[in-house]
Amino acid sequence: MMRIRLRLSDYLRILEHARLGLPNESCGLIAGGIKEAVKEVEKVYALDNPDASPEHFSIDPRAQLEAIKDMRSLGLIPLGNFHSHPSTPARPSDEDIALAYDPAASCCILSLAEDEPVLKCFRIERATGKTWEEKIELIR
Ligand SMILES: [Zn+2]
Repeated sequence: MMRIRLRLSDYLRILEHARLGLPNESCGLIAGGIKEAVKEVEKVYALDNPDASPEHFSIDPRAQLEAIKDMRSLGLIPLGNFHSHPSTPARPSDEDIALAYDPAASCCILSLAEDEPVLKCFRIERATGKTWEEKIELIR
């Protein structure tokens, strides 16, 4: 099972983006490299949530394309996405599973439901609804 290595500064960026977006869900993309069984996050793209909803998010295709171009120019590969759950736990919702088109992508969910934020990442197999948690390793 893959692990995810995330810099503390990138984690804090995701957290800040999610808090600024309240009461709505916030989202973005993560990019980096894969070494052995570790996905190393090198860049976080904080994007708008065009749905502007506390229960849904989507990623604007144009913003996604821009991010992918930037990744290519930096030699990074797309690793997956992140979004916040303002008032529910950090686990994939039925909708998150239904929208998980890429089984290799990491779907990271930041829950702000409790005082302490909780970030968890998953791989999701849409056809079966199975999810696997990818452990996050926070580094400086
Ligand atoms: Zn969700």
